[in-house]
Amino acid sequence: MKQLHEQAHLNGRPLKPESLMMSYGFKPEWSEGAIKCPIFQTSTFVFNSAEEGKAFFELAYGLRQPAPEEEMGLIYSRLNNPSLEILEDRLTLWDGAEDAASFASGMAAISTSLLALLKPGDVVLHSEPVYGGSDFFLKQVLPRFGITAEGFDLHTTPEQLQERAAALGEKLAVLFVETPANPTNRLFDLQACAAAARRGGTAQRPCRVLVDNTFLGPVFQHPLRHGADLVIYSATKFLGGHSDLIAGAVLGSKALMKEVRAMRTFMGTMCDPNTGWMLMRSLETLKLRMERAAQSARVIADWLREHAQVTRTYYLGHLQDDPAQQAIFEQQCLSAGSMISFDIAGGEAEAFQFLNSLKLIKLAVSLGGTESLAEHPASMTHSDIEPATQREMGITASMVRLSIGVEDAHDLIADLDQAFNQVQQQAVAPVAALHA
Ligand SMILES: *Cc1c(COP(=O)(O)O)cnc(C)c1O
Repeated sequence: MKQLHEQAHLNGRPLKPESLMMSYGFKPEWSEGAIKCPIFQTSTFVFNSAEEGKAFFELAYGLRQPAPEEEMGLIYSRLNNPSLEILEDRLTLWDGAEDAASFASGMAAISTSLLALLKPGDVVLHSEPVYGGSDFFLKQVLPRFGITAEGFDLHTTPEQLQERAAALGEKLAVLFVETPANPTNRLFDLQACAAAARRGGTAQRPCRVLVDNTFLGPVFQHPLRHGADLVIYSATKFLGGHSDLIAGAVLGSKALMKEVRAMRTFMGTMCDPNTGWMLMRSLETLKLRMERAAQSARVIADWLREHAQVTRTYYLGHLQDDPAQQAIFEQQCLSAGSMISFDIAGGEAEAFQFLNSLKLIKLAVSLGGTESLAEHPASMTHSDIEPATQREMGITASMVRLSIGVEDAHDLIADLDQAFNQVQQQAVAPVAALHA
């Protein structure tokens, strides 16, 4: 621990996460001078003695308190592995968290965290909409274990949320928030959520605030500083950032992470060493990638807003007409990020023609990678939501969602422009044919 603290400072100056991503938690002398941490591709670890094995297990199973400076030794890769421990140490830096745990996927991170904190009879209050997998887990899986999920949306005022939390009382165990919401980029006020959570739960078992921070990532939003107890990532998105792996992460206080980690051990939902190593490589460029993509997104969003075939943009840099949303943005977001949705003039047909005409931007779900992606939320990522509910959530048939990558912004605009032209030509063509 002391060693880690020393590595994070230079003559007493705390170093920025981006300065530490190449070295933190690893020493070349541990591995033949290798500048990069090796992949510890191993399932189990050899004990120096039976006594050492016993001591490690005592700590792993909490049979005794650790001695001063005693840390848990390596036992078996479902419990711990150096490739994951170094990754997890690095992950803590961005969010200023005490502890982090890596997972096999974002869904593994979400489901394991929820199961670690919930028991039959509990209620989860959650923002709506949430990611489709989370939605299914909350509404279809948890009820089978006697746990109820109740949604709240943007029309719920902070006072109403507090009243609902107070009415649920000790049954309220978790408040789960995803902000900005996908695909509309609507913001939920994290401090208001934390205040509501304090109205539920009990002194012995407080209601925990879990925040899915995948969309702005650990560079542009730090929920732990706004009252969250756990921050969760689909590391598949910005953290991985190259559309080549599936992983997840959870961060929080040492005490709470102990519960999450224990559930991870028993469910076996940890990340594998190779993916852990890939994530470490990705973290070296995390800030560069996110800032660059956000810069391009601003240029592209502003261009889209002025386009004759765009009826509306959903972008965190375009909240000027909505003072309440703008206030939340200023309070908790550090950038508008790189996710843009927009409504194309027309409906599903125009949206599909547009998507089918893109050349440089790929038609795929997922987000946060180096390449720009486009998709149609109503028929793809959010297709299992009833049309009426989709409308309530503001998801329209004409909505296209863009995840902006690191390509040249003007190349991306050229692609969007030619796709808009294709849509317009196809709209004109049938009329021309009629008159022929
Ligand atoms: C993708 C995503 C998830 C699920 O993550 P996986 O890594 O695909 O399991 C959860 N939440 C949000 C907001 C996501 O975008």
